[in-house]
Amino acid sequence: MSKRDYYEVLGVSKGATDSEIKKAYRQMALKYHPDKNPGDKEAEEKFKEAAEAYEVLSNAEKRQRYDRYGHAGIGGAAGQNGFHMSMDDIFSQFGDIFGDAFGGAFGGFGGFGGTQQRRRRVNRGSNLRVKVKLTLEEIAHGVEKKIKVNKYISCNSCQGSGSKGGTSYSTCSTCHGTGQVTRITNTFLGQMQTSSTCPACGGEGQVIVNKCPVCMGDGIVKGEEVISMKIPAGVENGMQLSMSGKGNAGARGGVPGDLIIMVEEAEHELFDRDGTNLLHDAYVSFSEATLGTSLDVPTLDGKARIKIAPGTQAGKVLRLKGKGLPSINSYGTGDLLININIWTPKNLTREEREILEKLGKSENFIPSPTGRDKSFFSRMREYFTQ
Ligand SMILES: [Zn+2]
Ligand SMILES: [Zn+2]
Repeated sequence: MSKRDYYEVLGVSKGATDSEIKKAYRQMALKYHPDKNPGDKEAEEKFKEAAEAYEVLSNAEKRQRYDRYGHAGIGGAAGQNGFHMSMDDIFSQFGDIFGDAFGGAFGGFGGFGGTQQRRRRVNRGSNLRVKVKLTLEEIAHGVEKKIKVNKYISCNSCQGSGSKGGTSYSTCSTCHGTGQVTRITNTFLGQMQTSSTCPACGGEGQVIVNKCPVCMGDGIVKGEEVISMKIPAGVENGMQLSMSGKGNAGARGGVPGDLIIMVEEAEHELFDRDGTNLLHDAYVSFSEATLGTSLDVPTLDGKARIKIAPGTQAGKVLRLKGKGLPSINSYGTGDLLININIWTPKNLTREEREILEKLGKSENFIPSPTGRDKSFFSRMREYFTQ
């Protein structure tokens, strides 16, 4: 059977504008819609014919080719008589045809009264969040963590299909396969039509004939999985890393959600963190600060020896370059800042007390506000601009 002329199908002239074509198609689609003509093969053919005609005439390039070469210009390979659209293609086209005119009411329009199966909605599993506590040492080098996660996993007994003994579905009797239930309410504005997801099938339009007894037809069960995750060096407290597809399994063979890893930083007894820098409080005795000394300070991977110059004041900050944490963007590594404190003894022996009292009378031991190495503010400035 040779195809009818597309203009003739839609009942428009060759010079019809885009909006005339759209309007004509809308009328045809409503008239021949399978929901309105259940079991009527002729209506279904007309419906498909109109959709095809619209698909070509609504596209400037295809329309031009059709005007020049007729059906042969559309079908691709020469000699093929036009092309063919599936019902799914037709319904996916409806968004822009009816979207403006009918709002969401037509969104659920897509069932075929059981004569044809509608494309099943894909269930997506939910995302899962886990907290991972990391030490500064782990953050410094990056770490691979294995953790046991409680989550929904695919049901073993039905391979995630939700049905017992092979997958077989029947059209949902509540929504007749549309996945939506429509309610008509009378308001002072007239009748209002509202659609919502069908509670019986969860919007899928289909129900399982024999539900799997283990998962009750969901295709997923509660379980656990040991997940190994690579944490990059330099992460910070509160950062979120996402592992795609490692979240909860999706119902009835759907796609799994993501696993979101929330980084929590364990407190370190020797270091405070400030971005990529680490801060450490070191203590020297009064005599060490006065006479100068060398001192072992801890680093994240061992220790380092620093020199305390004679006459060092409390609050002096010494910097160990590159002994901090790497930046997550790999822009270098931070520093370790050593804050020098002077330890003041509390319980003195009689002898110590006598020596200190003698020293205290010496002029060198009287603090002079103008004689300080640096003011508090210039020390702070130095600290923050280093
Ligand atoms: Zn339903
Ligand atoms: Zn099952």
